[in-house]
Amino acid sequence: AATSLSDLESLGVLGHGNGGTVYKVRHRRTSAVYALKVVHAGCDATVRRQVLREMEILRRTDSPHVVRCHGIFEKPNGDIAILMENMDAGSLQTLLEASGTFSEKQLAAVARHVLNGLHYLHSLKIIHRDIKPSNLLVNSAMEVKIADFGVSKIMCRTLDACNSYVGTCAYMSPERFDPDSYGGNYDGYAGDIWSLGLTLLELYLGHFPLLGPGQRPDWATLMCAICFGEPPKSPDGSSEEFRSFVECCLQKESSKRWSVAELLNHPFIAGGKDPAGSL
Ligand code: ADP
Ligand code: MG
Repeated sequence: AATSLSDLESLGVLGHGNGGTVYKVRHRRTSAVYALKVVHAGCDATVRRQVLREMEILRRTDSPHVVRCHGIFEKPNGDIAILMENMDAGSLQTLLEASGTFSEKQLAAVARHVLNGLHYLHSLKIIHRDIKPSNLLVNSAMEVKIADFGVSKIMCRTLDACNSYVGTCAYMSPERFDPDSYGGNYDGYAGDIWSLGLTLLELYLGHFPLLGPGQRPDWATLMCAICFGEPPKSPDGSSEEFRSFVECCLQKESSKRWSVAELLNHPFIAGGKDPAGSL
């Protein structure tokens, strides 16, 4: 890996996010290509808190299902740069925009990769809390990996504060809005499953499932759709296996939602011939 930022040259921008920009960079001596996320963390306390959390999680994780971190640099002005493996096929969001909706076979591979990643993260007591197409990255081997830990949570002794509102609320599960109605024995992990269900349905439909194709995603509309509406279902024409899988993820009552381990044995993905399962 690089020893300092001056070993790297920029090859262009890969993406923009909340607090910063992700660049494609090349290591001058080895010619290896990486992604470099630069966050302007000097001034804004929220942005700084998020990038520190992301750094801590990337330091702890080492899995083929989670984007790998090769180094972290802090500049004198407070900017933080995270050097990561380059996921050169983009995110599931950019793939959806470029190539259109996903087949069920592709979605089964996506689901298997993301569930393996969540299985790893949850075993480390890490809740991602922001699973959505733009945070699931794809490489040229068509492997899907989980990225962007800015609003993730490391569970330690207490189970509180999961309900604190962070990040986008669109993929948030009903119990994060209303733990009394939908919480059951709420521990936070099931929220990632809800978000996975919405993500798969969005990739199938081509638009965010809780809103109509052109509808504006304001907070009140989303909150009403999530808490008072029926959970979205896969449409007629999809297979029984896919319909059932989505339904198991999108149970409003978090205790009825299937766990990662249960979903890994669901017929929708367990039937796949190729266990490595690229897209
Ligand atoms: P934010 O917290 O600002 O959302 P992300 O980590 O999600 O930042 O990155 C924003 C976008 O940059 C992603 O949606 C993706 O398109 C691109 N990106 C991020 N990390 C990588 C990477 N390792 N390889 C390729 N593209 C990346
Ligand atoms: Mg993101």
